[in-house]
Amino acid sequence: MDTRAERLAAIVLRTVAYGDSDVIAHLLVRGRGRVSAFARGARSSRRRFGGALEPFQLVEVLLAERSGQELWILREAAVAEAYAGVREDLHRIAHAGYAAELAHELSRPAEPADELFALVTEFLHRLATGPATSARLRALELRALAAAGLSPELSACARCGSAVPWGKAAFDAGAGGLACGRCAHPGALLLTAGARAALAQLQRVGLSAADTPLSADGSGRPADPRAFEEACAQAARPLAAFLLHHLGRTPRSAGFAQQVGAPP
Ligand SMILES: [Zn+2]
Repeated sequence: MDTRAERLAAIVLRTVAYGDSDVIAHLLVRGRGRVSAFARGARSSRRRFGGALEPFQLVEVLLAERSGQELWILREAAVAEAYAGVREDLHRIAHAGYAAELAHELSRPAEPADELFALVTEFLHRLATGPATSARLRALELRALAAAGLSPELSACARCGSAVPWGKAAFDAGAGGLACGRCAHPGALLLTAGARAALAQLQRVGLSAADTPLSADGSGRPADPRAFEEACAQAARPLAAFLLHHLGRTPRSAGFAQQVGAPP
């Protein structure tokens, strides 16, 4: 028996068809965190669900928690923001899928994650109104990691704490970030000076810096957008290694993004 139902804002992370007409929806819910919910008749009832249970949409849901049960009951859902632009090309679909998977992996069942919720809605909004970029992906990764308390160390050596001179540097995912010349393992991944500066800016500022980056020289002038994007693409592998270290596996959606040739 479910008790009280509440109207809440949620992002649809993914859905799984169940039986002939039901759906299990995996949601990131404002104020509640990650919730899996059973939507009876979701594939047959236009009145209660009307196309709302599509991935990467912001929806208003009527949700009932069941005490002691992981699967909640989803009574109704309505689209609040479809982010239609996200579905206009495969690169954007791939990036949205990656964002949804990252949000799923970096949240816990029924543990509020409002910083992550705000991040993913901002990411989808920006993705719906512009092309898929590596810069936004790096900002998403860094801020999602920060929201989960897992920020990589980008200013000093993650092993010994000593300063890492400006310029290219080793990145040790297992140690938690940059590694100084003494601590770096042979064969460690490298961050170019540009990639390092780009990540530091994105970690500090967030998604807005991905769309309007500033020059790394401290002048306050805009950065060259193409050079910034290239630096962010170069930082994909080190951050992927960092995520793999914490998640224990490579996100499935990263493979799809690669297949369709989306920016890494
Ligand atoms: Zn060190």
